[in-house]
Amino acid sequence: MLYSVKMRSSLGGVHGEGGRHISGAERIVSEEKLDEEILSMVHRAKEHDRGEADFIQVKVEKVKPSDISYCPLIDFYQIDTKTKEEGRKAAKQELLRSGVSLTAVEKGFFLLDSLTDSMRGAMVLDAVTGERLDGRDCRGVRCSNMDIEDAVSYEREMTAAGHGGDHAREAMVLASKVANAKGTVAELCWSDDPHYVTGYVGSKRFGYGRIMVMKDYGDPVGGRIFFVTPGTDMEAYENYLQNQVVLVRMK
Ligand code: AMP
Repeated sequence: MLYSVKMRSSLGGVHGEGGRHISGAERIVSEEKLDEEILSMVHRAKEHDRGEADFIQVKVEKVKPSDISYCPLIDFYQIDTKTKEEGRKAAKQELLRSGVSLTAVEKGFFLLDSLTDSMRGAMVLDAVTGERLDGRDCRGVRCSNMDIEDAVSYEREMTAAGHGGDHAREAMVLASKVANAKGTVAELCWSDDPHYVTGYVGSKRFGYGRIMVMKDYGDPVGGRIFFVTPGTDMEAYENYLQNQVVLVRMK
């Protein structure tokens, strides 16, 4: 039997009730790994660069095997950039070649640059017009209920490729679920961790393009955008991203 373990933490109270979001994490693990995973999540929440959380919530739920679906891990590649400007330029090129229009790319960057604090989720934009479709203001759409199917093989392979560790795995898993969602054209992301300047562009066609520098060191504002084909059924799209349990399978 598998269990879903989710953690969220904040500082100064519960997030949304006066507290500031610090971190969140989720795994889908076997019964034997459950205790270890809960402890490791609590430690991560306490040691986060955004601050030491004073509110930590851990939720554990059984996952029925019949509720699980599978999607392939997208390929990994890297673009070496040294400055934010170089990184943004590379990200724009990756989005354009994935099929996002110039108008939508520019709108996306404008929206992310206008943020003064990080959102909890992602903005969803029409990949042609750049119109924002999720209507969820600063909450955005949260992608949840996913993990890598075989964490041991994954970590072995990705560490060898220079992309090991929790942060990288979570991003690869999320990007794979998003890239395989019906409607997604591409994704753009950079972190809200002030000490993590790396971001990525993800798509089913080209994979996960890690872009080494995408923002200034020390900047605590990050963001994500999912670009979708015009006419995407937003209710089905959000439902898949938020609720469908997906295990990401290595090829
Ligand atoms: P992170 O890579 O965790 O630092 O997150 C960067 C940004 O992506 C955050 O500021 C959020 O706007 C967004 N984000 C983080 N986690 C999720 C998620 N599970 N689903 C959708 N968007 C997310």
